[in-house]
Amino acid sequence: MNTDQIKETIARIFPDVETVICYQQGFDKIHATPYFISMPEQIDKLIWNPLCAQNLTSYLPSIKKKVGIVVKGCDSRTIIQYLQEGLIDREKVVIIGVPCTGVISVKKVLREIGHQPVVEVAFDDSGNIIVTTPEGEKTLAIADICPDKCTTCQYPTPLVYDHLIGDPIQSDKPKEDVYEDIRRFDAKTLEEKKAYWEKELERCIRCYACRNACPMCICQDSCIAETRDPHWISQALSLREKFMFHMIHAVHLAGRCVECGECERVCPMDIPVAKLKKKINAEMKDLFNYEPGVNLDDKPPMYTFNVDEAKIKEHKL
Ligand code: SF4
Ligand code: SF4
Ligand code: SF4
Repeated sequence: MNTDQIKETIARIFPDVETVICYQQGFDKIHATPYFISMPEQIDKLIWNPLCAQNLTSYLPSIKKKVGIVVKGCDSRTIIQYLQEGLIDREKVVIIGVPCTGVISVKKVLREIGHQPVVEVAFDDSGNIIVTTPEGEKTLAIADICPDKCTTCQYPTPLVYDHLIGDPIQSDKPKEDVYEDIRRFDAKTLEEKKAYWEKELERCIRCYACRNACPMCICQDSCIAETRDPHWISQALSLREKFMFHMIHAVHLAGRCVECGECERVCPMDIPVAKLKKKINAEMKDLFNYEPGVNLDDKPPMYTFNVDEAKIKEHKL
């Protein structure tokens, strides 16, 4: 799975960077976790397999020293978006790109195995994961337990890198399928949409994991969820306050969400929060022909202003 090549590349770049961000085994066999390597002797502990799902680029804006980072295709979109928005210095990042055929949603695996403890995990050459629990072995096709984003992935090969591990992979997923879920949702009536989101957001416990994991959430201490001056939302656990938080979050991501799916991956209540931002992305594509994190030379629509926008009609006041 390219692990040796990644290790060799990290060993080569090491004198040039202070830290390399990659993955190691997590607290059990089914979890990978971020791994910060600060000396070559630590390289051996890194892992690379379809459990390496986290978008590690979230760390980049807050790190001032020169770092190396391992990225998949979808992760690389965040780097491009950061560069478009001037949030990181390209000179301070060494990007190790790894073409990717799909990662695993641990939540989906745990559902499949009835939340049994995981004793062992293995991968075969036919795209399966074999999970051993106290009740025995279960073989699952990775294509059946991947996050939704992988089912329509257009960028399996990183769009920006300094070192590419292995050969580039072309997407075999139809481009027109990317926003198919949004088109289906748009076809619902207003009442149906309202009922859907009320049912979903009712479960939100406002833990803010979705915000914390989002690489493009950059307000930090000034987040509307916490500021008391101005006091945008209260701590009341009402549907109204939950809507307020999620709508503002989604609007702050307008034209900036790189569809990495981290917000959904970390949500303990399984709320499809990425769908809100994807809807806005679909509108951005339609209005400005803009896709976040894809072309280094693009300017995010919300960073520009034209008096006359080709596809936006001003209200006559
Ligand atoms: S969206 Fe694409 S690049 Fe990202 S994890 Fe899935 S298959 Fe890999
Ligand atoms: S992670 Fe889920 S439960 Fe937590 S604030 Fe976000 S949507 Fe709500
Ligand atoms: S809103 Fe969700 S999908 Fe979009 S960039 Fe943030 S974490 Fe990724």
